[in-house]
Parts: sequence; C-alpha cells; structure tokens
Amino acid sequence: MHFSYVTLFEGLIASYFEDSILKRAIAKGLLHVSFFNPREFTTHKHGKVDDYQASGGAGLVFFPQPLFALLRSIQKKSSNAYIIFPTPSGKPFTQNDAKRLAKKEHIVFVSGRYEGIDERVIETFADEVFCIGDYVLTGGELPSLVMSDAISRNVKGVLGNEDSLSTESFEQPLLEAPCFSKPPIYENKSVPSEFLKGNHAKITSLKNTMSEYKTQYFRPDLFSRFCVKHSYDKKG
Ligand code: SAM
Repeated sequence: MHFSYVTLFEGLIASYFEDSILKRAIAKGLLHVSFFNPREFTTHKHGKVDDYQASGGAGLVFFPQPLFALLRSIQKKSSNAYIIFPTPSGKPFTQNDAKRLAKKEHIVFVSGRYEGIDERVIETFADEVFCIGDYVLTGGELPSLVMSDAISRNVKGVLGNEDSLSTESFEQPLLEAPCFSKPPIYENKSVPSEFLKGNHAKITSLKNTMSEYKTQYFRPDLFSRFCVKHSYDKKG
C-alpha cells in the first residue's frame, strides 16, 4: 500500500510512522509513504496557497491552482492514485471503508487547512470525501492519519495477529466486550470469574452478552442495526 499525503505540514504526519506497527510495516515493505507540499506547486510570486473567499466572510481557503498542478502531477505519475479529501462535510468514515480501501494500491490524502479547500478542486479530483467525526479540527493531517492507520491494519501482514481483526468493535456490528488481564483481583476489583475457569464456550457466550450490553448502552444506533441484522440472519 502506498499512501501519499498532500500537506503543508509534512512533519505532523511523518512522525507518526516513526514508531510501532506502522514503522515495522514500512520496514517490511508493506507500506510506503510520500509527501507533497502545495507550496512547491504554487505560481504565486510570494509562495501563497490561500486566498480570501469569493463569497466574502471570515477566513481563507486554498485557491485552486497549486492543488490542481500538484494533483495532476501525481495522476500523471500514478494512474491508480485514489484521491481522498478529509472534510467535516464528507460522509462518515467507518470500519467498512477502512477494509474496502485496504484493497487499493495507492491512496492520496489531501489535507485542508484554514477554512478548507476551493470546492472546484474537490469536484475535479475527489474519489471520496470523508469526515472522521462531528467536530472541526484545524487541519486534515489528523483525519488523514486516522484513516490511513485504520486502513493499514487491514492490509495483509501489517498486524502480527490478524485473528484479532474479526472480534474487534464494529464487526458484528457490536462493540468489543471489555478486556481483562492479570492479576485476577486488583484493588478489590475482580476479573469476571467465568473468564478464569477455562470453559471457552462459556467465555465466548459471556463476552457476547457483555458486548451486546455495552453496545446498547454506548451506541444505541449500532445496537439497533445489530438487532435488525440478527433477526434477519435468524429468519434467512
Ligand atoms: N470550514 C470548514 C467547515 O466548516 O466544514 C472547516 C475547515 S477545517 C478548519 C480545515 C481542514 O481540516 C478541512 O479542510 C479538513 O481537511 C480538516 N478537517 C477538520 N475537521 C475534520 C473532520 N471532522 N473530518 C475530516 N476532516 C476534517
């Protein structure tokens, strides 16, 4: 998987790949990352990439020329470049998107800053437009990283133990049951006793129940979807 990041702030993104799982994935040749700075493509004599909004109003936006030049040059070199714009006005990014996008060869994330990006850039180049949550961040670097991290976990070989993927939150679609470690009792709080008896069928059943309760409490929206799917699966 090749991730390209279009950003004014390469350092914000590059540092994330200097540790842990994604660092190892790069070392193993499973991931490759590159960076493109819009300032290197601007024809503005002072190197500007932002300007006032045509409509008036507060804040600046990326004007089209540098991003058109930059994205055209990426497309020229990489015919399979799949271009994603993180923006609060995109569709919600989900685990299903992460799995689906893990099958792409080359994804380009275009990070906005200021009040965002001239819409003509998005209309011309976007394969998809995603929001990572109902809040506004200062730039697209974190959303780009959030999406690339979630996608990377689904690229074959990146995780040490791929079995863990199938029991994780959002798969059923339910949240994962609470996890416990050692010791069995810590500051008067104990691990559920069933977990310590070694009966795997009972442990699985208890985990499923906990998972359903947790989802019902924290994510009633997911729980309703699970109930519909579950009754459909039983009928079908
Ligand atoms: N004026 C924009 C709006 O109200 O929708 C917000 C622009 S935001 C300050 C600057 C950039 O941060 C956006 O262009 C986008 O790249 C990124 N961004 C901020 N919040 C985001 C979110 N929740 N999801 C995805 N991208 C986000």
